[in-house]
Amino acid sequence: MQVVHPYIFKTKPYVPGKPIDEVKRELGLKNVIKLASNENPYPPSPKVLAALNQAAREVNRYPDGGCFNLRRSLAKKLKVDEDQLIFGNGSDEIICLAVKAFAAKGYDIIIARPSFLVYEIASTLAGARVHQVPLKGFRYDLEAMRAKVNGRTKIIFIGNPDNPAGTYINQTQAEAFMRSVPKDVLVFFDEAYFEYVQARDYPDTLSLMNKHSNLMVSRTFSKMYGLAGLRIGYGIAHPEIIDILNRLREPFNVNSLAQAAATAVLADGTYYRNIAREISSQRAFLYRSLDRLNIPYEQSFTNFILVNVGADSSHVAGALLKKGIIVRDMAVWGLQGYIRVSIGSPAENKRFIKTLGEIV
Ligand SMILES: *Cc1c(COP(=O)(O)O)cnc(C)c1O
Repeated sequence: MQVVHPYIFKTKPYVPGKPIDEVKRELGLKNVIKLASNENPYPPSPKVLAALNQAAREVNRYPDGGCFNLRRSLAKKLKVDEDQLIFGNGSDEIICLAVKAFAAKGYDIIIARPSFLVYEIASTLAGARVHQVPLKGFRYDLEAMRAKVNGRTKIIFIGNPDNPAGTYINQTQAEAFMRSVPKDVLVFFDEAYFEYVQARDYPDTLSLMNKHSNLMVSRTFSKMYGLAGLRIGYGIAHPEIIDILNRLREPFNVNSLAQAAATAVLADGTYYRNIAREISSQRAFLYRSLDRLNIPYEQSFTNFILVNVGADSSHVAGALLKKGIIVRDMAVWGLQGYIRVSIGSPAENKRFIKTLGEIV
């Protein structure tokens, strides 16, 4: 065996939700639905498909490494400067770039537990020490996180809302937290579910960034905008931070189809607002149905729900899988008794509820 980087074997590889085709193959099933990766259940809009079709004719060329068109549209929409944006192969890449830029052996990262797995994996691979602060009632314990800050702390990750909890920290909490954290610590707000949150007190992090240049935000086209398969997300930060991350990124990290589709998504607001409305009414349907079945759950501000199925969630997730429904067993994330289910189409959600009722 070759000599490898010592941190490689300290991490457990990320285990994604099972792909539909794999489950069909392995279990010999015809009709499989996936409610495991918080994807949008609907296909891209006709306008986005047309843009993809057009861009497909030019894949013999390298993509625009600077994402010119997308950058211009997005900067305008967000009312930020173009040099405050960086695009990535999914927002996962933005998280990894921030870790590569600022963390290393001898430095600390602070995250919640449980939280989105990429924060921990990227930080451990960089050789940084990871402090995990347990959630309190499925919410961030910001005081405990603040108490972990020391002279070696480089980044604090705040999934807002976080995955798998589905809860968020509000404007007042975000403001107080930013005031309390030293200026040389990067506070990274991961807003992958931004487009789903309807709460009035959800923080306006882009305004907070004007006062706190150590605040960075990431968002994605994977969740609400349904481009998970194309891999495109972005970061918003002070130009100095963006400049540092740009030095680390690969020149053509965002492919041309992803750029074309994301630009078209931004110009097709109505289609996506309707999907948001549909998901929100389906969330209410799932709540009502779970209430009827007497199955407890956590209130979510995203397109997934943490469902408390009782002691053996692995058994329940396995039984659902046998019936062709892929969900995530949360026991592996330390939440014994919980599964995480993504909000699907009305037909998918009905099938999930009916099957769950038969199992539990
Ligand atoms: C899904 C998810 C992401 C990553 O999305 P990309 O597809 O890489 O853009 C980031 N953060 C959280 C909390 C997520 O759930």
